[in-house]
Formats: sequence, C-alpha cells, structure tokens
Amino acid sequence: MLDVTDLSVSYGAIRAVRSISFTLRKGELVSLLGANGAGKSSTIKCIAGALKASGGTITLEGKDITAASPEQVVRAGLATVPETRDVFPDLTVAENLMLGAFIHRRDQAGNRDNLEKLNTLFPRLAERSKQAAGTLSGGEQQMLVIARALMARPRVLLLDEPSLGLAPAIVERIFEMIETLKKSGLTILLVEQNVNQALAVADRAFVMRLGAIVASGTAEEIRSTSDLSAHYLGG
Ligand code: ATP
Repeated sequence: MLDVTDLSVSYGAIRAVRSISFTLRKGELVSLLGANGAGKSSTIKCIAGALKASGGTITLEGKDITAASPEQVVRAGLATVPETRDVFPDLTVAENLMLGAFIHRRDQAGNRDNLEKLNTLFPRLAERSKQAAGTLSGGEQQMLVIARALMARPRVLLLDEPSLGLAPAIVERIFEMIETLKKSGLTILLVEQNVNQALAVADRAFVMRLGAIVASGTAEEIRSTSDLSAHYLGG
C-alpha cells in the first residue's frame, strides 16, 4: 500500500531521517516509536508532502508521491493528522469537517454520507456540530482533526501522536477509535510516545533512533526482543 524506500530528510546540515525503508500493507496498523527528536514527525511530514525528501522514494499503491504536494498526496488517498492538532477555532465543528472534504467539493451527496458515518463514529462531535471548534476540549479537538482527515476518504491514515497531552480516559477512547478505524479496513501509521498502548493496537512496529530504524517486527517481537527503554528513551 505505502512503500518508503531509503528515505532521507535534512534540515540544512541536520540529517533528521537517514535512509529509512518500510512498508505498510493494506489494512495494517503499524506503530512508529522513538524518543523525542528521533525523526518520527519529519518522516510523517515528508510522506504527507509538507517536507521535501533529500533522498529516497515514497510510493502509494504503486504511484510515486515522493515530490507530491500535500494536496496531491491527499488526492492520491493518504491523509495526515499532524501532532499540532490545529482546528479552525472560530469555525463550527461541522465547518471544520467540511474543510476536510476539499478534494470532494463537487460530491455533496458523498460528503453527506461520509459525514453521517463519522457522526456515528464520533457522537460527541455530532452533538457539538454547531459549536465553535475552539471551544472544544483537547480530546474533542483531537477527535475533530481525525474526523476531518477522514472526510478526505483516505485509504491510508497517518496519525502523529494523537494521545499527546490528553487525560488517560480520553487516551483510552482515542485508542478504541483507532482500533475501530483499523477494523473498517483503513491502513494506519501511528506515531506514538505511548509505547504500551501503541504496541497493543499494532500489527507491527518499528523504532527510530537518531533518524534511523533500529528495530522492527511484530508488536510481540518488538516487546520481547528490543530493549525498548534504551531505544525509546534514548538511554
Ligand atoms: P518529537 O516527538 O519531539 O516530535 P520526532 O521523533 O518527531 O520527535 P523530529 O521532530 O522529526 O523528531 O526531529 C528530528 C530531528 O530534526 C531533531 O534533531 C530535530 O531537532 C530536527 N528538526 C526538526 N524540525 C526541524 C526544523 N524545522 N529545523 C531544523 N531541525 C529540525
């Protein structure tokens, strides 16, 4: 589904991502783990088209998207939820959601259908559809940015630290929702600091350190064979 081959990302002299390769198969949930500064967000931003690769290739369903713009990447079938959790605060929940459907502007019937499905998946958002997004709680805003990304009807979803800064009960709900999305057939790459929960929902995982992949395997293999604290905490 998604093939990343020898991908590198640099900020001037800083090599944030160093020739990493990985694959997401259809319907899989893969977790990307690593300490702060390991290069996870740079990887996500580069796949999303928000950062230029300094080397390597990214293909989505066989199509080369290495040099694609963020809009072209969404049109190709891949949506991203960045860790910045940026809603349009003065727009309503419903208006924020419709902005996520910008590539399907002309398909109003399809958008209504999709919105209905998302309202079932996110009942709290449905209840608050006319509320200004800036007045939602942190957890609700996280749900909103995920739902907004789903309005693009992606086949692959990249989630950058969806649990960051949220209370444990809300984190629990976010992970339940991620599992529901996986069951619906969506292919997901999940960047997480929350190692145990990320491994609990993942089919496979890989660990980044200093821009490189230092461990990969099934969630079970990662748990049992790699010294998670050394890789994850950078110790
Ligand atoms: P975090 O969880 O803290 O976001 P991360 O694993 O996502 O960490 P990145 O944000 O990808 O890591 O950062 C990887 C490296 O690139 C770090 O050394 C960071 O300082 C550097 N970096 C990130 N963004 C920039 C930038 N805009 N300019 C210069 N260096 C950057």
